[in-house]
Amino acid sequence: MREFGYERVLDVSGAVAVLGADPEARFLGGGTNLVDLMKAGVERPARLVDVRELPLDRIESTPDGGLRIGATVTNSDLAAHPEVRLRYPALSQAVLAGASGQLRNMATVGGNLLQRTRCGYFTDVTKACNKRVPGSGCPAVEGEHRNAAVFGASEHCVAVHPSDMGVALAAFDAVVTYETVDGPGELALSDFYLAVGDTPHRETALPAGALITGVVLPPAPVAARSRYRKVRERASYAFAIGSAAVALDVRDGVVHDVRLAFGAVASRPWRARAAESALLGGPATGEAFAAAADAELAAASPLPQNGYKVPLLRNLVVAMLTELAESDQEAGR
Ligand SMILES: Cc1cc2nc3c(=O)[nH]c(=O)nc-3n(C[C@H](O)[C@H](O)[C@H](O)COP(=O)(O)OP(=O)(O)OC[C@H]3O[C@@H](n4cnc5c(N)ncnc54)[C@H](O)[C@@H]3O)c2cc1C
Ligand code: SF4
Repeated sequence: MREFGYERVLDVSGAVAVLGADPEARFLGGGTNLVDLMKAGVERPARLVDVRELPLDRIESTPDGGLRIGATVTNSDLAAHPEVRLRYPALSQAVLAGASGQLRNMATVGGNLLQRTRCGYFTDVTKACNKRVPGSGCPAVEGEHRNAAVFGASEHCVAVHPSDMGVALAAFDAVVTYETVDGPGELALSDFYLAVGDTPHRETALPAGALITGVVLPPAPVAARSRYRKVRERASYAFAIGSAAVALDVRDGVVHDVRLAFGAVASRPWRARAAESALLGGPATGEAFAAAADAELAAASPLPQNGYKVPLLRNLVVAMLTELAESDQEAGR
């Protein structure tokens, strides 16, 4: 591992000033991803700027009824927060579906959004990888790609984003706030992750040296009726091979509001807008749920090894919508 400097910052302006002056410095959240990548030689920062003592560790209601989540809130505190569990249960469930208790105690919201792909070629510095070394090639396309993307990939990269938390945040229209030496800014999560194209090494629209300060969830009454489900190759401690955050509000048998986002299918959390449009205002029936899933999955372009993701997602979405519709029915809605 390259020798590196370490410092702890106590205020946001001081944190962004350090990165503004030193492009080889990196923010350190819980370190659960960055330090692993440093050990593997994938990341080689000259300096780590520890942000865990910044005053960004609170979860607060916003005046309009949404939630503001600080960037250094740990995954454990986020999942356990009573307002998150009550108003955005899929977010709490998504976070609890990720990693282990010890990791969630360390990992932060900012770091979770910026965690890197688990593609095996990316983490193996002896292999080519366009994301790690631009222009070196993408061995996954012809090689191992069982867990690769089925939406929005390109011949230059087929990796998926590994975050569970991000999938629920995408379903609820989260906005990421940040600070730079030039002042604050914000990005809707839908604009936060860049399309892969021929620049897979450019993953987000964050300006260079930006510190994520938090995430804002707008009010969304439908989110109170939401769930997250993750399919993985073993019961715990594994990344998703497919996942979904689903929220559904049915009134008198008609879909009044719906949110759908998929995980482990693209280089970013995948908001399933075609499925949502197909469902809104229509009947809450099994046929309609299947047709909506098909409307979204029609745009999928799987590779030889990952075609299983299409029926997996279809079955997952239909099952989750059916369960949520039944619970609406039981509640007399
Ligand atoms: C064994 C294992 C299993 C896991 N399983 C899952 C899983 O199933 N699902 C899942 O979603 N995740 C999983 N994870 C990933 C884990 O959730 C991430 O490692 C974690 O969320 C990263 O958060 P962190 O605070 O530790 O980030 P760090 O490792 O500290 O940082 C990650 C990146 O974010 C940057 N960064 C951190 N904070 C900020 C900030 N405020 N502003 C700007 N940049 C910042 C860092 O510079 C770095 O580039 C797993 C991790 C491990 C090791
Ligand atoms: S899929 Fe992306 S991350 Fe994996 S080898 Fe190809 S370029 Fe690298």
